[in-house]
Amino acid sequence: MARNPDTDPIAQAEEQDPALRPKRFEDYTGQERVKDNLRVYVRAALQRGEALDHVLLSGPPGLGKTSLAHIIAEELGTTIRVASGPTLDRGGDLAGILTQLQPREVLFIDEIHRMNRAVEEILYPAMEDYQIDLLMGSGPGAHSVRLQLERFTLIGATTRSGMLTNPLRARFGIHAVLDFYTPAELLLIIRRSADCMALDMEDGAAVELASRARGTPRIANRLLRRIRDFAQVETGGRIDLTLTRRALERLEVDARGLDAMDRKILLAIGRRFDGGPVGLSNLAAAIGEEQDTIEEVYEPFLIREGLLQRTPQGRTLTSSGWGVIGLARPGTLF
Ligand code: ADP
Repeated sequence: MARNPDTDPIAQAEEQDPALRPKRFEDYTGQERVKDNLRVYVRAALQRGEALDHVLLSGPPGLGKTSLAHIIAEELGTTIRVASGPTLDRGGDLAGILTQLQPREVLFIDEIHRMNRAVEEILYPAMEDYQIDLLMGSGPGAHSVRLQLERFTLIGATTRSGMLTNPLRARFGIHAVLDFYTPAELLLIIRRSADCMALDMEDGAAVELASRARGTPRIANRLLRRIRDFAQVETGGRIDLTLTRRALERLEVDARGLDAMDRKILLAIGRRFDGGPVGLSNLAAAIGEEQDTIEEVYEPFLIREGLLQRTPQGRTLTSSGWGVIGLARPGTLF
């Protein structure tokens, strides 16, 4: 089965090219407001010689949350330990990580909304008072021991900030919401990636890719790698506009950057559910995709492009959504 690089960690590892990941704020394009504020907080923490307050980064996959966490650690002049919400399933594992943290070190927890409740509760006193309570022994002799931790910074990343519990959300002093990138910002990212990969890419080709990469740097870089393959085999390496358009067509990416699954979702709502409203579970069953994936990976862009709406009754197509699938909204006359 094809792996989805937006949801599958193995595919992400395959896709990742460490050279392309920005290392400092100055290499990190876009998200200006978030970046400017973080710069100030980092500087202030450094001046006071304190750990940076805990940071929550939220936004759809591939927008640069992990990159930003690494940059924050780098700018703080400290190291980063990386963990992931779903794999931290035992409280003891988290306690082990927390007790080993060095002063002012960064702990990055990806997909923090997927942490289980028991593990999450260990985090509360750790974040607030830099303490954890460990239960020693079992049965009548069991007793709890309080351990003091070093002052550290937790950076949590989530694609679903709405799924975070209130007590957890409240313990983050800094909330940063990442948004999709404009074509102009993606163009800068693509040019930088093309330079890193030493590609011979025409300006027009980069502009075309920037407008068709779903506002997402990870997708821009992934498409760029595939275009490089087509160029290597078909044009001796030169990436021009014609080759780029042909490659994107073969990758089933349309003129507005929608891919085959985006179109499948819109078509299903239009054809099978008369434009909606349709509930998420019915939609997921109709197209054979996980509900979480639809909600986290596909919908944010479709909503942002004004093609789909989430209503209390379910998902509905907008008039632009009908336009994209080339069907008439039932009840409308040509
Ligand atoms: P997320 O954690 O939000 O899923 P990542 O930080 O893993 O996203 O970003 C995916 C890839 O996209 C990175 O490896 C990097 O190459 C690229 N990228 C993301 N944001 C930026 C940015 N602002 N500037 C340049 N490249 C970026």
